Amino acid sequence: MALFGGTPAVKKGDMLYAWSTDAEIQKKGECGGAVTALLKYALEKKIVDGVLAVKKGIDIYDAQPTFITDPKEIAKTAGSLHCGTLLLPKLVKKYLDGAKIKKIGVTVKGCDVMGFIELAKRKQVNLDNIVMIGVNCGGSVSPVSARRMIAEKYGVDPDKVHKEEIDKGQFIIEYEGGHKGISMDELEEQGFGRRSNCRRCKYKVPRQADLACGNWGVIGEKAGKATFVEVCSEKGANLLNAAVKAGVIATEEPDPKGIEIRGKTENAMFKLGDKWRRKDFTALGANLWETINKETSRCIKCYSCIENCPVCFTAADELIKTSLMVKPGEVPPNSMFHMRRFAHISDSCINCGQCEELCPMDIPLALFSHAIRSEADSAFAPKLGASAYKN
Ligand code: FAD
Ligand code: SF4
Ligand code: SF4
Ligand code: SF4
Repeated sequence: MALFGGTPAVKKGDMLYAWSTDAEIQKKGECGGAVTALLKYALEKKIVDGVLAVKKGIDIYDAQPTFITDPKEIAKTAGSLHCGTLLLPKLVKKYLDGAKIKKIGVTVKGCDVMGFIELAKRKQVNLDNIVMIGVNCGGSVSPVSARRMIAEKYGVDPDKVHKEEIDKGQFIIEYEGGHKGISMDELEEQGFGRRSNCRRCKYKVPRQADLACGNWGVIGEKAGKATFVEVCSEKGANLLNAAVKAGVIATEEPDPKGIEIRGKTENAMFKLGDKWRRKDFTALGANLWETINKETSRCIKCYSCIENCPVCFTAADELIKTSLMVKPGEVPPNSMFHMRRFAHISDSCINCGQCEELCPMDIPLALFSHAIRSEADSAFAPKLGASAYKN
């Protein structure tokens, strides 16, 4: 085993606690800043030409994607924004040439990784040029619903909130004059909390990324100050080893009890995802076609659901937009406009929620496409769009 100043080099499959050795990044980082330090190091050493990450805009509800080429700028992206419902892969395809030429480092939640994989299958992005630093994800809260939830359930002016976090099953806010936490279960029973696609999601630890980083399993003195890192690829191992060797990341062995807790938490999240699937799909299944017909009758044919879906790509977009089944100018469009889209993604919808989140008419599109994908997966074995992932 190679040694870096007494620290054994990590390899795929290893787990460790890690944190940044830079005081500013440590302070700004959500759990010690390992993710930010790794991205900064990758940029400084030209392992990547640029970094795509997420930074806070005007307030905690405003998560902005940002492409950074100057390592000094990276610290701006430290910290987790739980109202950040954005998805990054299609931005790489649209604005960064699919990483066909430039090498890109990117922070990814589970749905981002799946989006990249689906775009790569369609030859829209080059995964060889992308370093994916994964973050575990318990879910995100839509900014509009977060504001309403904070006003109605917390009795706090949403504009006075300067920090939010999800810890031990609670959504916690800090505002001028105090802080308050309410359990996510309670919020969700009352129709608040995470987006509905997030409740059904089972991509909790993004092991298809190069590294999977999160707070689950960090216990004892390091709780809140270090990230639990699972090394998921050789690319991830090489980056981490080089960053440790350069002294920008410090690591230690994870507490075995922490590993056990992490496993239990992940399993509990899978069960919760199954519970929400049963609930949502059973309700929908009672009246599937009528519900789709009724809900989609509000459609104003803005095409946002197509533009922002990571599994719709140009040729298919055009096919749907210009299809003879949909008369140009007809609003609301014939139901077949939606049925064609659902059919075309029935083997690959990743339940990322972008279609639903960005639909101006609040049509529960991800519910429909996720239900159809799940139904198709269970009806046709082996899985359509066979993958090793829990869709
Ligand atoms: P930092 O150095 O602070 O870096 C954080 C990185 O996350 C930055 O690159 C930033 O740009 C990026 N980021 C911030 N918000 C978003 C966003 N909305 N979408 C994409 N990227 C974003 N860990 C768990 O163990 N359990 C969880 O349930 C859990 N839920 C999470 C939910 C969300 C929405 C997010 C973003 C993260 C979640 N995490 C969860 C991961 C955890 O909060 C930390 O990101 C992780 O431990 C790394 O800490 P760090 O200090 O090394 O990260
Ligand atoms: Fe996180 Fe899954 Fe929601 Fe994506 S879909 S934000 S991975 S819970
Ligand atoms: Fe219709 Fe909503 Fe899709 Fe726009 S995003 S085309 S309104 S279903
Ligand atoms: Fe995401 Fe909606 Fe496309 Fe499914 S159909 S992949 S939920 S945008």
